[in-house]
Amino acid sequence: MFKAILIEKDEAGYRAAVRELDDAALPAGDVTVRVAYSTLNYKDGLAITGKSPVVRKFPMVPGIDLAGTVESSSHPDYQAGDAVVLNGWGVGETHWGGLAQRARLSGDWLVPLPAAFTPAQAMAIGTAGYTAMLCVLALERHGVTPAHGPIVVTGAAGGVGSVAVALLAKLGFSVAAVTGRPQEADYLRSLGASEVLERAELSAPGKPLAKERWAGAVDTVGSHTLANVCAQMKYRGVVTACGMAGGMELPATVAPFILRGVTLAGIDSVMCPRPERLQAWQRLAADLDLARLGRMAHEITLDEALPTAAALLAGQVRGRVVVDVN
Ligand code: NDP
Repeated sequence: MFKAILIEKDEAGYRAAVRELDDAALPAGDVTVRVAYSTLNYKDGLAITGKSPVVRKFPMVPGIDLAGTVESSSHPDYQAGDAVVLNGWGVGETHWGGLAQRARLSGDWLVPLPAAFTPAQAMAIGTAGYTAMLCVLALERHGVTPAHGPIVVTGAAGGVGSVAVALLAKLGFSVAAVTGRPQEADYLRSLGASEVLERAELSAPGKPLAKERWAGAVDTVGSHTLANVCAQMKYRGVVTACGMAGGMELPATVAPFILRGVTLAGIDSVMCPRPERLQAWQRLAADLDLARLGRMAHEITLDEALPTAAALLAGQVRGRVVVDVN
C-alpha cells in the first residue's frame, strides 16, 4: 500500500483527497519509482482544484514532477537504486503522477538525478525551474546577451519567475522583475533582480508599440501582459512565452514583429525532446545558485498540498513548493 493524492470525477462531483492505494492499482510501465519528493506547479494546482481540464483520465494521481529512487526496472537504462527525476510527458494529466509515495511509468521519460542536486533540490527546481531554464536557453539560441540590454520577467514571485530571475542574474543579465506583490520586492532583489515593476504597469490594454525597453523577456502571464511586453521590446528583442497565469488570450498586434523584428518564442516543457531536457538540467546544475534556490523553496506534506493548490492559483504562494510525500 502507498499514500497518494487521488482525483476522482463522477456523479458525486470533482474531488481530490489523500488516499491509501494498493500497488496493484499502479498503471503499466517498465520502471517503478519510490518517490521521495514531488512539487506543486501551477498545472498541479489546476488539476487538484479542477479549475481547468488538465486531468484527462479518472481516477488520476496528480503531480507533473517527481524525484526518487528506482525500485524495480525492466528498462535497459535504469536499475534498482538509481536516483531519477521526472518532469512532464503528460504524467499527472493522463498517467498517474508524482504526488504519491510510488509511481510506475516509462523509463524513457526519466532523467538521471544530476549529481549537483539532492532529490529535494531537484523538486525545488521542478518543472517550473526546468521551464525557466528552457526560456533562458531559447534567449541564448536567439543570440540575446547581457550587452543587448535588460530582460523582463513577469509573474516574477511565482515558481517559473523566481528561477528565471535567479538564473538570468547569475548569467550577468540586468533583470526587471514584474510582480503584483510589492511586498516581495526585497525577495526578488535577493534573487538578483535589479529593478522591480508593478504588475499593473503591464496588465492593462496598451499601445501596439511602446518605448523600447527590453532585449529579452520571460513571460509566465500571457494576455495583455504578454502583448505589452512585445510592444516594449527593443529592436530584434526576443520574448519567450511559457505561461498563462493572467489568461490564455493574446490581445496583441503584429507591429512589434514587423516593425522591430521582435521574435516570439514559444516554450513547452511537457513534450520537450530528451536531449534538450538533459541540456536544461546540466545548465541548471552549472548556473543556478543553490543559496538562492533555498531562499525560493519551502516544504509541505502531502496533506498540505490540497489547500496549497488553491493558494497557488490565487497567486499567494511565493517561489517553489516542495512536497515531502513520505
Ligand atoms: P505560480 O503560481 O508559481 O506563478 C505564477 C505567478 O504569476 C504568480 O506568482 C503571480 O506572480 C503571477 N500571477 C498570478 N495571477 C496573475 C494574474 N491574474 N495576472 C498577472 N499575474 C498573475 O506558477 P508557475 O510559476 O508554476 O507557472 C507560471 C505559468 O507558467 C503558469 O501559467 C503555468 O501553467 C506556466 N507553465 C508553463 C510551462 C510550459 O511548459 N509552457 C511549464 C511550467 C509552467 P506575482 O505575484 O509576482 O505577480
